[in-house]
This record gives sequence, structure tokens and C-alpha cells, in this order.
Amino acid sequence: MSYLADTSLNPAALEFLERIERQFYLDDDQLRAILAQFLKEFELGLSKYGESPAMVPTYVTHLPDGSERGTFLALDLGGTNLRVCQVTLLGNRQVEMNQSKYRVSEALKTGEAEDLFNYIADSVDHFLTTADVPLTEDETLYLGLTFSFPVEQTAINKGKLLSWTKGFAATHAIGNDVMQMLQDALDRRHIHVKCAALINDTVGCLMSRAYFSGGCILGAIFGTGTNGAYVDNMSAVKKLSKDAFEGARPDHMVINTEWGAFDNGRKVIPRTIFDNKLDRESINPRFQAYEKCISGMYLGEIVRNILLYLIDNSILFGGDSSKQFNAHYGFDTELMSNIASDKSDEGTACRAILTQKMGMDDKVVQPNDIAIVRWACTIVATRAAKLSGCAVAAIIEQTHCADGHEDFVDVGVDGSLIQFYPGFEDGLRSSLRVLVGEKIEKRTRIGLAKDGSGIGAALGALASLKQERAKQG
Ligand code: BGC
Ligand code: MG
Repeated sequence: MSYLADTSLNPAALEFLERIERQFYLDDDQLRAILAQFLKEFELGLSKYGESPAMVPTYVTHLPDGSERGTFLALDLGGTNLRVCQVTLLGNRQVEMNQSKYRVSEALKTGEAEDLFNYIADSVDHFLTTADVPLTEDETLYLGLTFSFPVEQTAINKGKLLSWTKGFAATHAIGNDVMQMLQDALDRRHIHVKCAALINDTVGCLMSRAYFSGGCILGAIFGTGTNGAYVDNMSAVKKLSKDAFEGARPDHMVINTEWGAFDNGRKVIPRTIFDNKLDRESINPRFQAYEKCISGMYLGEIVRNILLYLIDNSILFGGDSSKQFNAHYGFDTELMSNIASDKSDEGTACRAILTQKMGMDDKVVQPNDIAIVRWACTIVATRAAKLSGCAVAAIIEQTHCADGHEDFVDVGVDGSLIQFYPGFEDGLRSSLRVLVGEKIEKRTRIGLAKDGSGIGAALGALASLKQERAKQG
């Protein structure tokens, strides 16, 4: 509201905006209802396959403690780039690594899956030949793949893709084993690399944070997408049958929640027409409901939807628009972040973005318009941050990790929103405080996981090797 307070908007326009703002506001009772629904959906997902969130058992049964050693290859697929890294875990919480980035074009993201995996294998080949990785003829390098999509795993190195998210849509991938597709592509090129572990980025985040900080209860991503992984007691993982293990049944397992699919049934999060428009125009309508209210892929689009509605009602820019504003996904979340970073009274950065990036005529943009754009960014980002706090609270409740002691509750995080969006962590903490109480909120330490998708994948590959050796006795 603060941005609108100083405007010269007429009462009818103000009332119009306030009505929108109320739809984005989450009161404490709503937050509590969201937490309760989270715990319900967690329980259901842990007891049955095919539910959402998927609550994926990852077959990672121990968290690292910092003493791990070895050299591994790590791949990271799921964002704008494909990353290939060589990671050496030195023990004593130290690592060495070198890496290369390869661009994943829109055509690869949405074409044939085989082409995508061939491209990944070619990138590995390129990396190995240029990055001077010491490899003898008969030596095999073990690879951990950080794959930031929902996969139903049946082992640490096996899993079928459930669905694509975040704009990926390659064909003939869903239902197939991701590790096998990669191994086949590597084998076709006679590359001596063995795919050892399939690791979700949240699992990598959790493992990397544990390696460096000693203990960690949650690895969470608030970036292009959102998701979290935590350790649960096997007694809670009812859907995993006794014979799912060749050796002894472990006591604990890392669970990849896939919480981006929380509230797909639309029970607790109040949706606005701006959310509904985003969803219906998306490539996965009715899926990833929670992610669509929270993550970087979508926030800019929700703001754009609000602004278009105000333009159409002649409340913003005198009813003018631009090619950029009219384009689907034309307003990037990064621009929101830049607008929110600008603390000047007149909104200099906001004006520059509107005129230079969004194609608005400088003469059209009035001080009221700037206030409205800043206000729209604030209400959308605040709701996202508060919703994010609900997921963190749900994991604290699910694991009872704050009970019976006074230590820190350590949460490892990664992603552009939590790293760069001004005030995102404050907003997250505001709902966390409501849900777990001030004492526990204060004890919650939220820290960046150092390269979860590189180091975490290497730690995953090592965990897989250890499991292999344990099986061989
Ligand atoms: C995916 C998750 C991933 C998250 C963060 C979501 O869209 O479904 O697997 O962890 O994005 O990258
Ligand atoms: Mg990533």
C-alpha cells in the first residue's frame, strides 16, 4: 500500500487497486491452513505413488559430514545452461573444481529427448578433451547428474521422468529412465563415464550444505522453479515396500518433495484471475500450482497480467501498452528484482526499465504509473515470499527437527529469488514466524548452499559408489 499512499490517484482507482491487493494478501489463518494442507499432502505423497507432491524417495540414505573424498564428474541440467564440472572432494570440507557451461537452446528444450541427451554427451566429451581431466584408458569416471525435474526413483542411479517443468518439453522423455538415456548417449560416443547418481538440485543443495556446515535439515530452491528435499524416517515412507532394497532397509532417506506441485487441487491458496490466466496459458495447465505462485519463471508474468488488466481499465499508462508488455512472458522476474532494489522516491530504476526495456514512451509514464508498477511488484513478491515460508515451516513440522534442543535449525538454499530478490528472505521469515513461533524462527539459519548442483552431484556419485561397494560386501 505504501507506494500508492503518495499518489494522486482518484478514490475509484485506489479502491480498484486495493481490491486487487486484498486478493494477494494472506492472513495468518490462511497461512495456518496452508501449513496444515502441506502436512496432509506430505503424508499422502509418502504413502502412495502417483500423488502430488510426489514425495520422491531418492535412495540417498546418509548426509555427508565433510570428510568425503574423491574425484567425480558432475552435470547440471535444469536452468538456462548445462554445466559440466570436475569436482574433487578433499575431505575437511574442502573442494576443488573446474567447469564449463554449455547453452541449452529452446530447440533442444522442446525437441526430441534423444537430441538433448546427445548434446549433453557431446558437451561431456568436449569438456573431457579440453579441460585436461586426467584419465587413463581403462579408468572410469563416475558421474553425478543434477537433474532439476520430477523423477520417480527406484535406486540412486535409476529413475523415470514424471513430467517436465520450467519450460522444458522435450518429447519421448516422460516415462523413460533419465540415467539410461544419458548412459546410452555416452556409450554411443565410447566415453568412459559411468552414470552413478541421479540427483535433484534440492538434494544436491541439501548434501552440499551438509558437507560444508555439518548439519542441514532442508535443501530448498527458490529460483526459476521451487522445491525442497529433507531427510525423513523410513517409517514415514509407507509407499516403499520392504523388498525395495537389496541389502538392509535403511533407517532414513532423503525425500525430494517436489513441492512445486503443492495445492494442485486448489484447496488452500487463494487464486486471482492473474494466476488463472497464467496457468491456462502455460504449457502445463493445472500442474505446478504452488511453483506458479512462487518462482522466478512466473512472478514477472503475474505482474504483467496485473499491469495489462490495469491498462485495459485505463488506470495505468493512460491505457497505453507496448509490444513488450503485450508479449507472453514479456516482463522478466529479473526486472521486478531490479525495480524492488531501487529505493529512490521517484523510482528512477523503474522509469528506466519501463522506457528502455519495456518500450514505454517516457512522456506517457507518470509518477502514478511508477507507483503502481512498484506496488504490483511488491504484492506479487510478498505473497511469493510468504508462501515460501509455509514450505519451510512444513518441513520443520514434518521432521520435528526443532524439538527438544536449542540448536540452530539449518536450511540450505539456492536460487535467484532467495539470493537476489530484495526482502525475499524477510517475507519468508514473516510467515515462518507465524507458523513455528518467533523462537524457532530465530533459531532457523538460512544459508546459501555452495554449488549444490555441482558439489551435491559429486557427493551423490560418491554415495552411489559406497552403496555399490556395500552390496558387493
Ligand atoms: C522441479 C524440481 C526442481 C525445482 C527447482 C521444479 O520445477 O520440478 O525438480 O527441484 O524446479 O529447480
Ligand atoms: Mg540450477
